[in-house]
Amino acid sequence: MTPSEDSPYTTIDLNWSGRPKSIASVLIGSGGVNALIDPGPASTLETLRAGLQRHGTSVQDLDSILLTHIHLDHAGAVGALVKENPKLPVFVHEFGAKHMADPSKLLASAGRLYGEKMDFLYGHVLPVPRENLRPLAGGETVCIGNRKLDILYTPGHASHHLAFWDAHERTAFVGDVGGITVEGDTFIMPATPPPDVDLDLWNKSLDAILALQPAKLFLTHFGYQRDPAAHIARYRKKLSEWTALAKSLLESGKTEEEAAKEFVEAVAAETKRNVHTISEADHYIFNGGLYLSWLGLLRYTKKQKEKSQQTT
Ligand SMILES: [Zn+2]
Repeated sequence: MTPSEDSPYTTIDLNWSGRPKSIASVLIGSGGVNALIDPGPASTLETLRAGLQRHGTSVQDLDSILLTHIHLDHAGAVGALVKENPKLPVFVHEFGAKHMADPSKLLASAGRLYGEKMDFLYGHVLPVPRENLRPLAGGETVCIGNRKLDILYTPGHASHHLAFWDAHERTAFVGDVGGITVEGDTFIMPATPPPDVDLDLWNKSLDAILALQPAKLFLTHFGYQRDPAAHIARYRKKLSEWTALAKSLLESGKTEEEAAKEFVEAVAAETKRNVHTISEADHYIFNGGLYLSWLGLLRYTKKQKEKSQQTT
C-alpha cells in the first residue's frame, strides 16, 4: 500500500536483529514528497530498502530525513543513505548535529557499551556531510509535501531529542520520549540510557506533548498508542519507580556491580509478571537494554546527589 493523503504515514518494521516490532521507521508520503522519520540503525539498511520498495519508493526517491535523536538505533543508517542520495537534507536537533557529522564519539561510547556485538546490532555507521545537516532547536515547522510537522524540543531521554507534531492528524511522533510499548500493549518499559537522562526535563517534555491533546502517539519501539493521556500517566509512574529503585540500590551500600545485577533482575522479574508470555517478556527485556537503563539512571541519581550536596 502506498501512503495516501488520507494516511501519509506508513510504519516500516526494521526487524532489528531478526526481531519484529523492535524498531520502527516512519515513511511519510505527501504531495509527491517522501521523507523518513528515524531510518534506524545501519544494520537494518537492507530491511529499510525492502520496506521502501514495498511501498513504491526507494532511497533515491527520498526527499528528507527527520531525526527524533541521534542514538544509533534511530539514526545509524543516515550516513549511508546520504552517501547514496547526496541531496538529502537531515533535520536534527542542533546539539546532535555535530555527532552526525563526526560520529567518532558516539561510536566510541557505543563501542564501550556493546563491545563485539556492535557490528551485529548497529552495523557500519558513516558520517553525514555537514552541508546535509539542518540543525533545529524546537519551535520550527518542517513541511513534507502538504503536511506540516511542528518541531518540539523534548529532552529527558536525550538532551537533543525532538518530537514531531502533525496537528492535522493530531499525532505526535515521540521517538523514545514515550518509552517502549508494542502497539496494542499497555505494558511500558522505560529506556533510560546514559548519558543524558533527566527526569525533570523528561516530565516537562511529556507535559508539552500532552498539552497538544494528541489523539495518537507514535513510539519508535514500537508503533501507535491510541490513548496518549493514559499512556503518559502510566509512563510517568514507571519512570519515577525505576528512578526510586536505582536510588535505593545506590544508597544501600551494595557495590555498583551488585546493585546493577539486582536492578536488572528486579526489572526483568517485573516484566515477566506483567506480560502474557515468555516470548513477550523476552522481547521487552532484550529491547529494553536493562543494563544500559541502569547505567543511565545510576548516572542521573549520582548527579542529583551531587546537586543536592552543593545546595545544602
Ligand atoms: Zn531508541
